[in-house]
Amino acid sequence: MSFRFEYHAYRAAFRQPLATAHGVWSEREGLLVRLTDGSGRSALGEIAPLPAWGSETFDAALAFCAALPGMVDEALVRSVPADRPCCRFALETAWDGLQRPASPLPVRQLPMAALLPAGTGAIEAAVRAANRGFTTMKWKVGVGDPASELALLPLLLAHLPAGARLRIDANGAWDLSTARAWLKACEGRPVEFIEQPFPVGHEHPVLQLANEFSTPVALDESVARTDDLRRWLDFGWPGIYVIKPALAGSPRRLLKLLADYEVETVFSSAFETAVGARAALTVAACAERSNRALGFGTIGCFADERLNLPDPGPTLSTKWLARLAPGPLWELSSPVPHAA
Ligand code: MG
Repeated sequence: MSFRFEYHAYRAAFRQPLATAHGVWSEREGLLVRLTDGSGRSALGEIAPLPAWGSETFDAALAFCAALPGMVDEALVRSVPADRPCCRFALETAWDGLQRPASPLPVRQLPMAALLPAGTGAIEAAVRAANRGFTTMKWKVGVGDPASELALLPLLLAHLPAGARLRIDANGAWDLSTARAWLKACEGRPVEFIEQPFPVGHEHPVLQLANEFSTPVALDESVARTDDLRRWLDFGWPGIYVIKPALAGSPRRLLKLLADYEVETVFSSAFETAVGARAALTVAACAERSNRALGFGTIGCFADERLNLPDPGPTLSTKWLARLAPGPLWELSSPVPHAA
């Protein structure tokens, strides 16, 4: 069986520029793919590259789509090369959406984490999130001066409601002494984990830190590429794996890999529009066992509301997720990439 293949490009501004250790980011580019069967039914998939996490670039994804034929079959969809993980995710989720539109998701109520900005704005954001019922908050650090950020930690923790927990994401910005100072400050505090303290390729101290301190360490950028994920799994990394399904290639293979290794995972977004976010959440709903909050605090990140998945709030119902319609995303994107 073959389906008609089309693709559109989008470029979308964020509601607010996001400051991370990777820099300040104000818009993202991506592609939507559409598969249509002979009766006119169609399904969308999203290519949302994050080259800073090791995915293909937008240009590489665009070139890949431009080289595909107008009709694609399952063999082609399942054999997208490993160095095009975002393309593979988009094509497979669109294919599965068209082939098995009614396949039921497990009925689950999944907790969601709120995203706090870097710097002092985190405190006000934490208070707002707590008022909405969030009990897991993720704070971006590694953006400003490390000493000032560390000095903010007790203040931020003091504003969290009883029972709430903080995740601290350094996006690879720290050196060993900075990581030690943070982990020391986190001892005995309601900190769920420290995420990606060191840059990719320089992670080795995490093993030592995992033995020295009680706060768990999570890897995100280090396990974003499937080859790297497999390497850490084979190595037996005992900490937490942050998984961005939209960057991880084939959802089918990812789910099998995670089931085989039975590791602690936290599922996370990659700044997708509603199409990619829904697909990534669907993968998370199929895999999630730990009941750790999902890291999809970027839902609602685009200035154009029509691109955003509706905000599920502090708890995501998989029944709600299954009912969501794709919205006007295809019409809002363009057959020709915008000029740079
Ligand atoms: Mg992260």
